[in-house]
Amino acid sequence: MKARVKMRNLDRETRQTNFLEVACGYNDQEAHDEAMRCLECKNPRCVEACPVHINIPKFIKHIKDENKEEAYFSLYEDNILPAICGRVCPQEKQCEGACIVGIKNEPVSIGALERFLGDFALETGLKKEMNIKENNIKVAIVGSGPAGLSNAASMRRLGYDVTVYEALHKFGGVLQYGIPDFRLPKEIVVTEVSKLKDMGVKFVKNAIIGKSITIDQLRDEENYQAIFIGSGAGLPSSLNLKGENFSGVFYANEFLTRVNLMKSRQFPHYKTPVRIGDNVCVVGGGNVAMDAARTAKRLGAKNVFILYRRDMDSLPARREEVEHAIEEGIDFRLLKNPVEFIGENYLLKQVKVEIMELGESDASGRRRPVGTNKFEIMDIDSCIISIGQKPNPILKNHTKGLETDKWGRITTKNYMTSIKGVFAGGDVVSGAATVILAMGAGKDASIEMDKFIKLTK
Ligand code: FAD
Ligand code: SF4
Repeated sequence: MKARVKMRNLDRETRQTNFLEVACGYNDQEAHDEAMRCLECKNPRCVEACPVHINIPKFIKHIKDENKEEAYFSLYEDNILPAICGRVCPQEKQCEGACIVGIKNEPVSIGALERFLGDFALETGLKKEMNIKENNIKVAIVGSGPAGLSNAASMRRLGYDVTVYEALHKFGGVLQYGIPDFRLPKEIVVTEVSKLKDMGVKFVKNAIIGKSITIDQLRDEENYQAIFIGSGAGLPSSLNLKGENFSGVFYANEFLTRVNLMKSRQFPHYKTPVRIGDNVCVVGGGNVAMDAARTAKRLGAKNVFILYRRDMDSLPARREEVEHAIEEGIDFRLLKNPVEFIGENYLLKQVKVEIMELGESDASGRRRPVGTNKFEIMDIDSCIISIGQKPNPILKNHTKGLETDKWGRITTKNYMTSIKGVFAGGDVVSGAATVILAMGAGKDASIEMDKFIKLTK
């Protein structure tokens, strides 16, 4: 078996001060060579492990046959955002984690091949012709993240008159405001959204459902026959520590939104500066924490520390992101847990951290971090807290009868919420998860919405 074809990356020096994409993708030859490593298994474990069950051996076979168009069309059947998923999905825990080749060698680089096809379609303007039979029935979607976009595409394919309402001034949800350009260039998100526009999906920006217009109004006054809520989990969790309100303490979502969406990184061209100083600590070990740390470095911070209360093996972030963070000089301070922020005149100056050790395994199977009662003080100029997100309560607070659980997640049965005809999926139901799971929920919910509309007509 030949070795896996490694994806080329921008060298470390080039990427220190800019937001250019780090991973460069495969060229035709590299993609072909990598595709040739696939064994075209009769019972492909990769397909089973993919949350949306993409027919992986089928699209890889077309790459082997040098038929990129067919390969793309085959992939697009199951996934409307291949250029995005190929870049951000945690493949090592999903398809690639299950790939049979991975038992003795490195698994087939399924994500890189998916990205290769997605990019090919974007570069060449390749589009699947769709024969949409209009039924003139209106459906509304709240939120333009992966859940909303995937629901919009599926409903439109079924012939519905689809309108997506988005609170922000740009579409794409976390893909647009959260994940930085060095991992996912924004032109890709814009082009993928424009493909949906070409299919006839309507998009309304700056519309906060619950405030600008309510769910009741959408249904009763605007005549939407079904509504899908894909409003995500945009509300950051706090540490609830002394000093957390000092200037210099940020939450990752706020920080990344200011840099990505409000373009603070282009200050003074955009008048939205974000002051982080020389020494930045990021609390957390997930993808969001890696994005925040690598972004802080690119904004000019001299030292960026990741404070994580477990060890390196327990980091929940994608392996590739951790590797890139290490290459870029991010300093991992493991088994450290912040307990207090110390400041002067409301300005953050230091963080007090407790040194942790690993105890017994908890319900997640990971060893529980246990405090040692030993402490350290670190001098810092800013801290970015990245310990998780939950759904924003605006929608719940302004929608009578919409039930949620104790974490504020909308509760559903077969994707229908406690309100008849109102469906939900993605992070707003599952809590912060992944792009592909949100897309899967949006797609599956469309089947239930279609059934509901047909039954009530
Ligand atoms: P979102 O993407 O959050 O989209 C929800 C949209 O709804 C937003 O645009 C929001 O503005 C809008 N909205 C909210 N309320 C309203 C309202 N009342 N009215 C109108 N619109 C509203 N996952 C991965 O798989 N791989 C990664 O590498 C990865 N990296 C991540 C990095 C960061 C920084 C973050 C924050 C998340 C990351 N994730 C990653 C997680 C992934 O992005 C989410 O699981 C996914 O985006 C959830 O999709 P969604 O459609 O449910 O919600
Ligand atoms: Fe190919 Fe691996 Fe999937 Fe088998 S499990 S079909 S080798 S990608």
